Amino acid sequence: MQKQLPFTESFLRSLTEKWPTPFYLYDEAGIRSACRSLNSAFAWAPGFREYFAVKALPNPWILQITREEGLGADCSSLPELVLSETAGMTGEHLMFTSNNTQGHEYQRARDLGAIINLDDLTHIDYLQQTAGLPELVCFRYNPGPAREGNVIIGRPEEAKYGFMEAQLFEGYRILQQAGVQRFGLHTMVASNELNGDFFVETARMLFDLAIRLHAETGVQLEFVNLGGGIGIPYRPEQQPVDLAAVGAGIQALYEQMIVGTALHPLRILMENGRMITGPHGYLITTAIHHKHIYREYVGVDACMANLMRPGMYGAYHHISVPGKEDQPHDQLVDVVGSLCENNDKFAIQRALPQIEAGDLLVIHDAGAHGHAMGFQYNGKLRSAELLLREDGSVQQIRRAETQDDYFCTLDLDSFRTAMGH
Ligand SMILES: *Cc1c(COP(=O)(O)O)cnc(C)c1O
Repeated sequence: MQKQLPFTESFLRSLTEKWPTPFYLYDEAGIRSACRSLNSAFAWAPGFREYFAVKALPNPWILQITREEGLGADCSSLPELVLSETAGMTGEHLMFTSNNTQGHEYQRARDLGAIINLDDLTHIDYLQQTAGLPELVCFRYNPGPAREGNVIIGRPEEAKYGFMEAQLFEGYRILQQAGVQRFGLHTMVASNELNGDFFVETARMLFDLAIRLHAETGVQLEFVNLGGGIGIPYRPEQQPVDLAAVGAGIQALYEQMIVGTALHPLRILMENGRMITGPHGYLITTAIHHKHIYREYVGVDACMANLMRPGMYGAYHHISVPGKEDQPHDQLVDVVGSLCENNDKFAIQRALPQIEAGDLLVIHDAGAHGHAMGFQYNGKLRSAELLLREDGSVQQIRRAETQDDYFCTLDLDSFRTAMGH
């Protein structure tokens, strides 16, 4: 089975004249269309907003696109807040969903007017002491054994995030007594989930909890944030989540459970990263060696430092060899990078066409948690990021790292002076 590419081999070849491989290439049109599909699935929902999870692809040029499509930014650290502000998002277009947070981060989030999403009951006091309580506070709920979770995020009762249910009741009472006026409720129980029903069930869980919280404490939630985690079809035989069906399923619950109650018009928020940019980013790399030992290896010029998901999660990323799509995929190979770690493999025992040194390989679905997870272990450098604009032009949105970048946190000159080298 094949996955389609929004560019041709000769187009890629022309890019390599200016940008040596490896590099990332993002497709603006695809990103915009993902934003629009999600927004249209929730067009019925009063005040719906998706906050793009910045950690998936932290680049201001990308945040500019998602902002133009009406998305906010979900940040988990101070630099992500700064980046989002740089891309023009402030106030309640920023969601600050952090954990194990430090006071100065809360302070900055407050200064920017971000919606602060607390990860623990003890953080109410901590926030009050370090930054003061804002007018609006949100809590992150961990349903524990009530929900199953999945492989990336783990089982909720083993996950470090969020409040237990009883702590929510206590927490909103504390907020009310402290004079907080506006309240939100958040959860994030799955990552890369392809079963749309899962999100409908998450909405049911939060609606039900919102109703019970209101009955017992009088707290009037302004929004529920269903979190991110909408999956993408990494494998060519998988189907994308039917967003329209998810939106309609949640709408039916909303009409049953919320409309006509004191909670109406409860806003629905989400904070997906992967489904917005994941399928619309590609890691382009060149085959440089072919090695025949106990197995066949194709060595490429990218490595796990450029894309860690296969090594970290055993994640599948589809690989195309542009120009050889129609050749028989009869070679069983491991596609490997150059790290001194044996999990530095983009594909294991994958059926691919005969690959020669110099062939370009496209690693699909690398637009989220791809470049962002890059690292420099083993003296590896992070690659450039390029943006394929809707008009067909290509813009460099991040340059490749150089050796100077690698050394820049070392003061090599004073080292040499001290050692007399
Ligand atoms: C990572 C993360 C997201 C985004 O997850 P995706 O799988 O990219 O949709 C959203 N919210 C929180 C709190 C996260 O940690």
